Formats: sequence, C-alpha cells, structure tokens
Amino acid sequence: MSKNLPHNSALKENAGIQAPEIINSSRIAAFQQRRSQQDTPETLIKKIIIGDKVALSRAITLVESINPAHHERANTVIQGCLPYANQSIRIGITGVPGVGKSTFIESFGKLLTSLGKKVAVLAIDPSSTLTRGSILGDKTRMEELVKDENAYIRPSASGESLGGVARKTRETIILCEACGFDTILVETVGVGQSETAVHSMVDFFLLLNLAGAGDELQGIKRGIMEMADAVVINKADGENIRKAQMAKVEYNRALHLFPKKASDWNPKVSTCSAIEHSGIQDIWQMILNYLELTQSNGYFDKQRREQSQYWMMETINENVLLHFYNHPAIADLIIQNKKAVQNNEISPFAAAQSILDLYFKS
Ligand code: GDP
Repeated sequence: MSKNLPHNSALKENAGIQAPEIINSSRIAAFQQRRSQQDTPETLIKKIIIGDKVALSRAITLVESINPAHHERANTVIQGCLPYANQSIRIGITGVPGVGKSTFIESFGKLLTSLGKKVAVLAIDPSSTLTRGSILGDKTRMEELVKDENAYIRPSASGESLGGVARKTRETIILCEACGFDTILVETVGVGQSETAVHSMVDFFLLLNLAGAGDELQGIKRGIMEMADAVVINKADGENIRKAQMAKVEYNRALHLFPKKASDWNPKVSTCSAIEHSGIQDIWQMILNYLELTQSNGYFDKQRREQSQYWMMETINENVLLHFYNHPAIADLIIQNKKAVQNNEISPFAAAQSILDLYFKS
C-alpha cells in the first residue's frame, strides 16, 4: 500500500523488515490473551487507579476483545473504575487525512503535559482492521508524545461496526480517567459518521481545517461544521499565513450563520501551525474559556448526563441487533426470503414480517 501513497502522506508506512516466523500475529494475540487473563478484574482496578499504564492497557485489551468470556470481566473493571472517572476534559479532534491531526495532537499534547496535565490520546477509526488501522496506527507519528511519561496513546479499536468501535473508545475513556488522565483527546477522520460518534462522547469538539481549499474540497460536511466548538486552520506558517488569516474571516462568517448552540458558546475560529507550535497555546486558552462558561451555566454536566444516556441506548441498540442477526434460524430465513423477494414470490413487507415473527416466537 505504501508504494502508491505520496511521500508526504499522513498514512505513510515506514519500510520495515519481514518479521521472523516466530513472531507471527496469532502467537502475539495468544500471548496477549494469556497475559490479560492473569489479572483478575479486582487487581486491574487496583492497579489502574494508582496510575499503572500496563494494567490500563490490559484492561483496554479486555474491553476490545471479541471473546464473550472477556466481556463480563471488562464490565467489572469499568464498573469498578467508574467512581474514579469523570475528572477530566474530553476533546474531540477531527479533520480529513493530511490536515495535520497527528502533528497537532503531538504539539498540543506536549503543551498540556508541560502544564502538568496527563494526556490520553484515543482514536475512532472505523476503517481500522485487525492489524490496526491508519489513525495512530503508526506511533512514530507522535514521536515526542509517545515517549512522554504523562501521555498515553492508544490506537483505534478494530471492529466491524462503527457503533462497536465507538463504544469501546467510550469505555476506554472511563478507564483512562480512572488511571489519572485528566485530558482525553479523541481523534477521528472527518469524512463520515465517526465524528458524530466522537461528538457524543466529548465536551469540546475541534475541527481542523486548511486554508485555501473550499469545504467541499476538504470533504467537510456542513453537519460537522455545525457540531464544531472551534474551527482551527492549521499550517498557518510560511507563505500560508496570509491565506490562513483570510480563511479565518470566512469561517467566522460561515459559523455566524448557524443557529446558536445550546451551550451558549459562540464557536471560535483560530489559526495555528502544529509544526512550528504557534497558536497552540491560544487554543488551550479558548478551551479553558469554554470550560469556564459551560461549567458555570450547567451545560457541561448536562451534556455529560445526556451522553451517558445516549451510550446506554446505543449499547442496547447494538446488542439487540447483534442478537437478532446472530440467530442461526433468522440468518437462514433472511437468505431464503431475500431470494423470494428478488423473485417476486413475496412482498418485502410480508417477508420481513415472517422473519420478525420467527424471532419473537423463538
Ligand atoms: P493527519 O493525517 O491529519 O494526522 O496529518 P499529519 O499530522 O500526519 O500531517 C500531514 C502532513 O502535513 C505531514 O507531512 C506534516 O508534516 C504536515 N503538517 C502538519 N502540520 C503542519 C503545519 O502546521 N505546517 C506545515 N507546513 N505542515 C504541517
């Protein structure tokens, strides 16, 4: 894949050597599974709340596991961590590939750790496969942050549905907070549904954009602009500074056209250069201003309560669907009825009804 990508692509892969046969991925998976089985949920909880990052990683592996036997243990750990979570600010960061998300998170994360914050970086990447996907997959993209003792970087969970991947990230936030991380950054690619999922789990939503490319060109949908608490124009350096300033005026104008937010916050537009670390501090100040406003007017807590209810409902929805589609007789009847519908032997509605009848009667 790397051969087809331009040299400066955000998705570049470093050339590597062939892993020896002895380190094949199934052996690694088996090793990780054995290791994660060693700790009881109670031990994991105890270790997590004293800031043990290894225990945190093991608990996240349980949360991400597709093995049903792990679900119960994962739930016990999450439940045990819950009283220690919540003391944080959760920030969502979105933008199309190449806009500079990783570079920005590296620069922003370093600023935060220099201020004494503990920063966890998570990602939601529905395109991520079992071999770990594009976002944060290559940890070398955050070289400094990854070495920082006060930072924790975890690539996106993999999974078949966005809902599943997002739920795992949502649960991972709780674990990170219990482990003492007070600033949670959740990264996603701004091209699909994933930013709606991120928006439903963060306090502040930041859209990274570039100057000089129309929104359409950048693939940013109106809905994403509308969700943003801040639009940050990155790469405002060198010859780009003037263009970035012009874009700032335009985005300000565009944001004014959206209805007022329930938080009472007026979304702000800012410019920065993630590479030169300029404008980054202003963005943190902006987020502090947002916190001051929303914590004093009650919106911060209200939004978190609503998000928790949303995730309860999402989890039910996801599980009901899984239970339905994993039912062997249902799966068979769906195949049969699809053929029958295609051949006009039965109406789509009658076909659906017969499948639902089978489910509710069984
Ligand atoms: P992502 O795909 O959104 O995570 O983007 P990356 O952080 O990987 O950055 C994509 C490319 O843009 C890389 O070549 C970066 O070096 C470059 N880049 C990122 N931030 C800046 C910036 O502030 N200024 C300039 N000039 N280049 C940047």
